[in-house]
Amino acid sequence: MSPVACNGNNTLPLGGSTGRERYDSRMPPYKEQGIVLRSYKLGEADKIVTVMTQGSGKVRAVAKGIRKTKSRFGARLEPFTHVDLMLYRGRGSLDTVTQAEIIAPHMSIREDLARFAAGETMLEAIDRVAEEHERNVRLTLLLLAGCRALDAAPADPAAVAESFMLKLLSLSGFHPSITACAVCGDRDPQLWDAGLGGAVCGRCAEQGAGPCSRAALEFLSTLALADLDDAGATLQPDARVRKETRSLLYGFAEYHLERRMKSVPMLVRTAT
Ligand SMILES: [Zn+2]
Repeated sequence: MSPVACNGNNTLPLGGSTGRERYDSRMPPYKEQGIVLRSYKLGEADKIVTVMTQGSGKVRAVAKGIRKTKSRFGARLEPFTHVDLMLYRGRGSLDTVTQAEIIAPHMSIREDLARFAAGETMLEAIDRVAEEHERNVRLTLLLLAGCRALDAAPADPAAVAESFMLKLLSLSGFHPSITACAVCGDRDPQLWDAGLGGAVCGRCAEQGAGPCSRAALEFLSTLALADLDDAGATLQPDARVRKETRSLLYGFAEYHLERRMKSVPMLVRTAT
């Protein structure tokens, strides 16, 4: 990936030397590219950011003086922003950002409620599964592809998030069985059991398995195969099937990722 919009204006030299830096200046700085997941104000001019990076996994860092800095993109380091960072490794879990170059702000995601809800679901899921300082290039590239797809104003942002979630589950080792029974491989599964691995046939189902329609499984299968850019473009089932699909998918994700994703209810509310 090459930066698409870098010039001198985008580089934000942060803070000045106070002689009381929290980072260990004996450690060499490291450079990382990634997507901002979370950003919190700290005091007058600082921010704490959580960034999903290619080489260092999830990184939490303090960015000093960033809100005072003027830049083409407002020095915002807000969620969804694709950034190139120079950091120092901290003594604890908090690193220090010494320089930030904004590659793409992905601003349009914040300008539309459906896109924002879909994006929040993606950030939340990544935040749950990514480990701090554990390299995960594929997860970072998936998130970047998701942000780009939403920034391009897709017709169906919820479908982009659902397709993203299926890809994230696959990368995490939990791809649901959709077209065949998760237990015996029967090609006509009619029930759904997250614990057994997705779609199951009547013979393999255990107590707790719920019904699922053929249309919902077909849509899930389409979403799993789709590129994020055109998720939801080839098949547009009715609202009832969409609702069922979301319920199967997010129920499965919650079961396997073992933590409730707070932004899911918001996505369900805004999606038609
Ligand atoms: Zn079976």
